[in-house]
Amino acid sequence: MSDIREHLTRQIIEAGRFLYGRGWSPATSSNYSARLAADRALLTVSGKHKGQLGVDDVLATDLAGNSLEPGKKPSAETLLHTQLYAWRAEIGAVLHTHSVNATVLSRLTPGDRLELQDYELQKAFAGVSTHEGRVTVPIFDNDQDIARLASQVQPWLDAHPDCPGYLIRGHGLYTWGPRMDDALRQVEAFEFIFECELKEMSLRGGTR
Ligand SMILES: [Zn+2]
Repeated sequence: MSDIREHLTRQIIEAGRFLYGRGWSPATSSNYSARLAADRALLTVSGKHKGQLGVDDVLATDLAGNSLEPGKKPSAETLLHTQLYAWRAEIGAVLHTHSVNATVLSRLTPGDRLELQDYELQKAFAGVSTHEGRVTVPIFDNDQDIARLASQVQPWLDAHPDCPGYLIRGHGLYTWGPRMDDALRQVEAFEFIFECELKEMSLRGGTR
C-alpha cells in the first residue's frame, strides 16, 4: 500500500469513528472519501459499519465514479463524491453523513434551500470571516437514481463556487474541504447550526 493511500485510509477510519461516535453516521449509513490523486478518489466501500472501518474497507475510483478495484463494491453514492473532486481541484476530502438533525430539518424546510444567518459558527465554513453574511445550503429532493441526483447538484455547484455543502431531503449532508480536518470541521459546524435551527423552530412552535 502506498504511503499516501495508507495515510488517507487512516484519516477515513478516524473520521468514521468520530462521526459514528457523534451519532451522525448510524450503522452502515454515510460515505467518506479523500482525493488519492488528481484523477482518483479513495472511498468507503458499500455497507460497512462506519464506526468499525478497517484498512480494507476503502476502494479507489476514477472521477467518473468507476471502481478501480474489481471485487470491492463501491457505494451507491460514489458519483456524488467524485463529482466534487472533478468540480474543484482543491477539494481533498468529502464527507456524507446521515444525522437525525439534517434529516428532520431538511424535511421541515420548505423550498429548495436553507438560509443561515447570524450564527457565529458560520465562520467555520471556508471563506466565511463574519457571522453577518448569509450561508445558503441547497436542499435537493432525495433520489435513488444517483446519476439523476448528481445532475441536479452540478448546476448549483457551478453557479455557487463558494457552496460549503448541501442537504438531500430526508437523507443527509454532503460537505467537503481541502483536507479531511476541514471537512470534519464543517460537518461539526453544520450539525451545531442544524440543531440550533430545530430548537428555535420547536420553541417558536412553528416551521422556519
Ligand atoms: Zn446517503
